[in-house]
Amino acid sequence: MAKWVYRFGGGGAEGSAEMRRLLGGKGANLAEMASLGLPVPPGFTITTEVCAWFYAHDRSYPPGLEDEVREALAGVEELTGMRFGDPERPLLVSVRSGAPVSMPGMMDTVLNLGLNDVTVEGLARASGDRRFAFDSYRRFIQMYGDVVLGIDHYLFEDALEDLKKEHGCRFDTDLDAAALEELVRIYKRIVEKEKGAPFPQDPEEQLWGAIGAVFASWMVPRAVTYRRLHDIPSDMGTAVNVQAMVFGNMGEDCATGVAFTRNPSTGEKQYYGEFLINAQGEDVVAGIRTPQPLTEAMARANGVPGTSLEVLMPETFAELVEVFDRLERHYRDMQDVEFTVQKKKLYILQTRTGKRTAQAALRIAVDMADEGLIGREEAILRVDPASLDQLLHPSLDPNARHEVIARGLPASPGAVSGRVVFDADVAERRAQAGDAVILVRIETSPDDIHGMHAARGILTARGGMTSHAAVVARGMGKPCVCGASGLEVSYGERMFTAGGHTVREGDVITIDGSTGHVMLGEVPTVEPRLSPEFTTLMGWADGVRRLRVRTNAETAADARTAVRFGAEGIGLCRTEHMFFQEDRILAMREMILADDTEGRRRALARILPMQRQDFVELFGIMEDRPVTIRLLDPPLHEFLPFEEEEIEAVARSAGVDPRVLRRRLADLEEANPMLGLRGCRLGIVYPEIYEMQARAIFEAVVEVQRTTGRAPVPEVMIPLVATARELELVRERVDRVAQAVREESGVDFTWLVGTMIELPRAALRGAEIARHAAFFSFGTNDLTQMTFGLSRDDAGKFLDAYVRAGIFERDPFQTLDRDGVGELVRIAAERGRRARPDLKLGICGEHGGDPASIAFCEEVGLDYVSCSPWRVPIARLAAAQAALRRQAACRPATVSAV
Ligand code: PEP
Ligand code: MG
Repeated sequence: MAKWVYRFGGGGAEGSAEMRRLLGGKGANLAEMASLGLPVPPGFTITTEVCAWFYAHDRSYPPGLEDEVREALAGVEELTGMRFGDPERPLLVSVRSGAPVSMPGMMDTVLNLGLNDVTVEGLARASGDRRFAFDSYRRFIQMYGDVVLGIDHYLFEDALEDLKKEHGCRFDTDLDAAALEELVRIYKRIVEKEKGAPFPQDPEEQLWGAIGAVFASWMVPRAVTYRRLHDIPSDMGTAVNVQAMVFGNMGEDCATGVAFTRNPSTGEKQYYGEFLINAQGEDVVAGIRTPQPLTEAMARANGVPGTSLEVLMPETFAELVEVFDRLERHYRDMQDVEFTVQKKKLYILQTRTGKRTAQAALRIAVDMADEGLIGREEAILRVDPASLDQLLHPSLDPNARHEVIARGLPASPGAVSGRVVFDADVAERRAQAGDAVILVRIETSPDDIHGMHAARGILTARGGMTSHAAVVARGMGKPCVCGASGLEVSYGERMFTAGGHTVREGDVITIDGSTGHVMLGEVPTVEPRLSPEFTTLMGWADGVRRLRVRTNAETAADARTAVRFGAEGIGLCRTEHMFFQEDRILAMREMILADDTEGRRRALARILPMQRQDFVELFGIMEDRPVTIRLLDPPLHEFLPFEEEEIEAVARSAGVDPRVLRRRLADLEEANPMLGLRGCRLGIVYPEIYEMQARAIFEAVVEVQRTTGRAPVPEVMIPLVATARELELVRERVDRVAQAVREESGVDFTWLVGTMIELPRAALRGAEIARHAAFFSFGTNDLTQMTFGLSRDDAGKFLDAYVRAGIFERDPFQTLDRDGVGELVRIAAERGRRARPDLKLGICGEHGGDPASIAFCEEVGLDYVSCSPWRVPIARLAAAQAALRRQAACRPATVSAV
């Protein structure tokens, strides 16, 4: 018999933490906490399987569910000594969503369910607080009206504001019982007017309405968008948790709060959180009232000593701290805990693994390993490689002059500048048009998610460290300042004022999510300094990874950055990129456009010393690390002049008539430059080009040997090879130049010649190509382009539609297509290695810096990955995780993946 409902509470539970797929994260953790004997209000979880049934059967429920819910509810009644719908001791429940993967704020919740015109009187009598009872009832009507009945929430909010004005009140809490009773009447009239039927009084009808609304919220657009952005499968479904209500708004000895067992921003081992006295849970995260700090240390740091829970409710604080420590020891990870204090009694409503910044993730992983809570291997697996990007964010240049116009909370680190926008849609549009934007909102809501994603930074006028803006920005790794006091935002006029300044849409501001400062204009930033935990964890990662990590770099600056980030060599130096600067591109164009060998040689003679000097510099920076230099591979359209002025300049420099040049340009024009005269084809048609480059490389080796005594071993790489004969031919020429330079200089040196595998044919003919190659480097940008027949320059325009339609799970230019392109990589690697066992294998397409693709490289047994300098730390960690997961697959249960 299928079981649709799992109960928890009263010191036990039918579910457990392992059942998150079935019970959702919230349900599984509530069950686990109940079993641990923590003070969890009793309740039950309707499984994600019911959600699947709901969508498969025209939004209906499986047979037997109703009975199971009724029995589970009776169990809650027994544990609480209250009854659903009872006029004297009414049981009230919350109904919340809870998916297997946390989707904060995305789906719906209804609180205080079970209230009606009769039970509200019972609640008033039982609590001895009429004001509280009617406040709860009006909140319930408002939430139910919005979530279940689909009534615009502004209607309720406006009515509340009007009533406050009428009564001369500033805060909701200033309204007395009579005013709230009146508000309930107004709210009920709104419902009746909007729906043509009175507000439902039957608690059972209310309950099923709320359950249906939670299941339905799985498919609302913002939840669908969130899942798409976070790669969460849609068939996972949500569970529904029905739980006895406890009240943090029953008076001054009540409170509600959110806490982290460690600092989620820095990772420091300190309790961290916020609470509100006499409030209900949603008030803290909604950012409507500014919450108070949990600990006195936080209160002092915020300049409000004496306002913490630690001081105001010392016994509760002590109890809470005990719960935190138990939860951390039990889950062996930092927890994000929601709690409520009802008449001095503490209840824990939720625990989950806390979201954190990359900096905090590193610190927590390293600290927990040092504390013996987890092993080092687990510490390595705990940090998301992609999140390291956040650590590499710039911070404000300490020497830059700037004026702070507003101060808020440092909600998510990093400094960033951009144009102000006030609307998520505008943010998305302007970002797509290439603008750097900062989304400024009074407070954000889940409806802003696409704008937050598009923006470079987020600034809000209201809300605390656990507000929606703060949590989401930290998850996205975007700088965020929230709750900026003194920021007056007017959406209507598209402007904000702060510190006597007016900032309009389109104006540039800078925000610093590490200090909470907001500044006018663009303030210069400096590169980040890496924390000691970063170095420690990277050291552990380096100890377990098998893949080497190189970088794609052609400039001295990039090479230096990469070495600083731990690159172990250069895997791809794109020599054509060394000619992008203005003074050089002229010589390069002259060379390409020369219509005879003599003209080409003249231009090449000018290029040679520049190239040699470049290589001397690169070898110097890379010291004894390997350097792979790819000979020229310019798709011609990227280099040819288009503008009249450019053509004239080349003509002047080459001493030819511009008309001749234009003719030559017409000759060179290609319909498909990506499939045209590029890569080794260029070297075969014009041998003098590769000869010059080979000479520059080997002469640089000689010079470095002479001046430093070091002996670099250059790896000369031939691009876009399709046949073994191409490689054989080019290689002979390179070898000949090397011999010549050796003889001329009298200096002995070694070198390797290898090839890129960028064409399907090359992959298939790996065995014969390997006979002429010391190494293969998979150029998966071109290999993806050529395998799918998708132009890398144009596919961006429609790939999104393919991803949305589910044809591609991910953009194949970002994450390697294992099945097709990956199959070719596997074939080339196997065939190449069989023909030549010492063949070195690497990857240098963009995929070399993508964690999922790196895992594939580990499985195929490549020797190294090569990626852009900023991705080197990501690749080091991803390579370590891939190695650990592979080992774990061979010997199960030694490493528990997270
Ligand atoms: C590739 O094709 O993957 C590659 C690294 O070369 P490029 O991007 O320069 O074509
Ligand atoms: Mg390529």
